[in-house]
Amino acid sequence: SVARACDRAVAGSGMTSSRTRERLAQRLLAAGLQDDAVIEVLRQLPRHLFIEEALASRAYEDSSLPIGWGQTISQPYMVARMTQALFEAGPVQTVLEIGTGSGYQTAVLAALARRVYSVERISALQARAEQRLRALKQRNVRLRHDDGSAGWAEYAPFDGILVTAAASGIPRQLAEQLAPGGRMVLPINHGGGQVLVRLIKNPAGRRPNYQHELLEPVTFVPLLGGIA
Ligand code: SAM
Repeated sequence: SVARACDRAVAGSGMTSSRTRERLAQRLLAAGLQDDAVIEVLRQLPRHLFIEEALASRAYEDSSLPIGWGQTISQPYMVARMTQALFEAGPVQTVLEIGTGSGYQTAVLAALARRVYSVERISALQARAEQRLRALKQRNVRLRHDDGSAGWAEYAPFDGILVTAAASGIPRQLAEQLAPGGRMVLPINHGGGQVLVRLIKNPAGRRPNYQHELLEPVTFVPLLGGIA
């Protein structure tokens, strides 16, 4: 299980105590997150293994941190918030993530869904995330180095799609890869800032095809085209 893999990794690292991680879990609860399963995954997952050693002492702060190539590992609150938004609207078996980054959000999703597919456009980040997830024995994850704006048609449709970089609008190809009743959580540019959106694809035959809600203001790196 992910819990056992995490315990092994944590025991081997000597970098974190369960008390530090418990403090993070308490902070997430205080911030209004309510999904026990999501909080439990963040309580167990060794976030320090997803960042460079020089920053490891800050791993359990509720903040985003640099991971190189101008990118960041997302703030734990935001990882939990997006995961909760994805899972609270009904069962999710298969998830597509766009923007693997460090692989931390990927590992959270892998603990909750049956299969996770994740695409990252920066080759070096993709390779590191792959190593980390392999070390955590996360076998239900498939990673790919590519521009994720077009999704991953081979494995579509997905019950859930989570995008960890901000697009100018809802990417049409991603919306098309949602299963009926499936949902996508993503930051989009909105009124000079960004907002987190949940898009739900209605069951077949029901109009409109999609409905969406604005969840809260956010700050993400941009969704870029092409690979690096
Ligand atoms: N969840 C990740 C984490 O916690 O480490 C977040 C990483 S960062 C906020 C967003 C990631 O999206 C970056 O690694 C960036 O390279 C990637 N990205 C941006 N545009 C992309 C695209 N079109 N396809 C795939 N990945 C993309």
